[in-house]
Amino acid sequence: MNENNLIEIRDLSIEFKLHSGTIRAVDQVSLDIPKGKVTALVGESGSGKSTLASAILNIVSSPGIIKNGSILFNGEDIVQYSANRLRQYCWTDVSMVFQAAQNALNPVMRIGDQMIETVLAHKKMRKEEIIKKASQLLDYVRLEPSRVLKAYPHELSGGMKQRVMIAFSLLLDPKLVILDEPTTALDVITQDYIFDILLKVHKEMNITMLLLSHDISVVAKVADRIGVMYAGKIVETGETFEMFENTKHPYTAGLIQAAPSLLDDVSKNKSIRGSSPNLLNLPPGCAFHPRCEFATDRCKQEQPRGISVGKGRIAACHLNEKGEMLA
Ligand code: SF4
Repeated sequence: MNENNLIEIRDLSIEFKLHSGTIRAVDQVSLDIPKGKVTALVGESGSGKSTLASAILNIVSSPGIIKNGSILFNGEDIVQYSANRLRQYCWTDVSMVFQAAQNALNPVMRIGDQMIETVLAHKKMRKEEIIKKASQLLDYVRLEPSRVLKAYPHELSGGMKQRVMIAFSLLLDPKLVILDEPTTALDVITQDYIFDILLKVHKEMNITMLLLSHDISVVAKVADRIGVMYAGKIVETGETFEMFENTKHPYTAGLIQAAPSLLDDVSKNKSIRGSSPNLLNLPPGCAFHPRCEFATDRCKQEQPRGISVGKGRIAACHLNEKGEMLA
């Protein structure tokens, strides 16, 4: 395992057996999560990013199973972890803030009590120490500890609850925090505020982060690296700046063009034509071909392989084999 990486995912496939057939939500994915960096996984709903993230915690929901592949953490394959080791790993090594996690707060329990309960579920610690730590973290995410610890979730705004969840995720000093759509359903100003806090946490506490989002422009503000997922596969990875400067996959280009910006004329945004594919009935060849303006006959028959398209960059598109660039 490369010492610069915290997590190395190799050839990972996750399948769900349904009445109507088997879907491969994650399909032979390989991805590095470098230590001390912010990595973003981007893709439309159903692209497989949340399933991939749940696999990093080894909590793929039933009936999903990890069909093959490995997820290395400190050189150990977490797919092979015992239940005991997994309990220790979740929250203390890696924690996750799930999508719409604010709704996961217990509505009839004060925030402080929920924080105590979370810590005690994973390790022995005196309640006073937990409250001290929780207060520091709440202060860190710019909340007033004395008020928030005593509050019930309904007494907090959406942005405050999201900050509470970020504080929760840091309670056990994890090395990696995964945040699934951390700013969805929040207004643009609050989104910026949350990302400011995440950057502060990342830099000052040296926490490695994995952000999942459908909006490439939102995560580009904070991510060092981006992986773009489509139909369960990673179709492009690279440094954020490089990906925007020199896009190597039409789907990435589509996501960038579709992303709204406060400074842009929104009428110029161009959404990607068509919709996400049905994983039960994927098109042959490149799964993106029905939506791709560059598709050729070859694309309709042959799946593109991920190939190196520059330092630390991989893209899976036949165009790159011909050395063509996407403007
Ligand atoms: Fe488009 Fe073909 Fe590239 Fe797929 S392989 S993204 S269809 S050009």
